[in-house]
Amino acid sequence: MELNLSPLNLPGISTTRPIVIAGPCSAETEEQVLSTALQLAKAGIKIFRAGIWKPRTKPGGFEGVGETGLPWLKHVKDEIGMLTATEVATHAHVEAALKYDIDILWIGARTAANPFAMQEIADTLKGVDIPVLVKNPVNPDLELWIGALERIAGAGITRLGVIHRGFSTYEKKLYRNLPMWHIPIELHRRLPGLPIFGDPSHIGGRRDLIAPLCQQAMDLGFDGLIVESHCNPDCAWSDAKQQVTPDVLEFILDKLVIRDTTFSTESIQNLRHQIDELDNDIIEQLAKRMRISREIATYKKEHNMTVVQSARYNEVIDKRGAQGVLCGMGADFMRTVFEAIHEESVRQQLEIINKN
Ligand code: PEP
Ligand code: MN
Repeated sequence: MELNLSPLNLPGISTTRPIVIAGPCSAETEEQVLSTALQLAKAGIKIFRAGIWKPRTKPGGFEGVGETGLPWLKHVKDEIGMLTATEVATHAHVEAALKYDIDILWIGARTAANPFAMQEIADTLKGVDIPVLVKNPVNPDLELWIGALERIAGAGITRLGVIHRGFSTYEKKLYRNLPMWHIPIELHRRLPGLPIFGDPSHIGGRRDLIAPLCQQAMDLGFDGLIVESHCNPDCAWSDAKQQVTPDVLEFILDKLVIRDTTFSTESIQNLRHQIDELDNDIIEQLAKRMRISREIATYKKEHNMTVVQSARYNEVIDKRGAQGVLCGMGADFMRTVFEAIHEESVRQQLEIINKN
């Protein structure tokens, strides 16, 4: 389906990169909302975010203040003069948000992964003219992301954008959600007119990753950033570790280098990011290989076997060498790589065997 896109056209907001949306993960109290918004406004931020309904992994946690918080956002709009943005996941959320003149709606990662929920939101938005930002689905599925956008576009919404918040992962990694930059890059190739916002808070899950992730998003030519900022981050009721004070946010934004890059897969920046992504994969795969190797060591120890079994070693070197050559790599290179991997593997196995 062809998307009919028009510019976001946010009143009073310049299109100079980055367009910044900031505010707490959740609206908690009226005081917290207004104090954060005032400080952000002082720092030059013009669009305020706050979650009113919070999708939590498990029941029993703080699930947002609900409609009670919408008048607080209305205050931010009327008294501080910022635009307001919140997350909607159901028909009722959309109706309530519209009633309180929310300026921008965003759709969360769990909702974007659910076609029924997306359709319900789209049906509610028929005939409404409001900018809608769709976060990537939690799982790395570009078609599902585009499908979610198509549903919203099908309702007649043309002021569409996306938020890249990373993809969930089972294994513990540096990032809370893997950036997998090639996915937003491919989305941009497919839908070049669609504004992309980076969400460093949810990708990193850690304050210290916000600055580098903002810079990476800018280096890739993203249009904007959505960052979680709280007047007292340590005491936040949700996502405390990934929020910064408005002051810190101002500092981070101030230090950003905004290069005039064209966002194309040909640009060297993008190719380098793809290399970084692959290097991450290589490291993860190697670590996985070493883990299995250590399991083998435990077995060898129990069965009183030697660590190095040369027949197996020769088989690995020969088979992988031949496979590498078929893929266009030199035989010597393949040997060097697998010898090094084997050496590390033996070192780790010896550690296990010699324990106790
Ligand atoms: C949020 O923005 O606070 C949020 C819940 O994000 P996500 O849907 O990306 O998890
Ligand atoms: Mn959050």
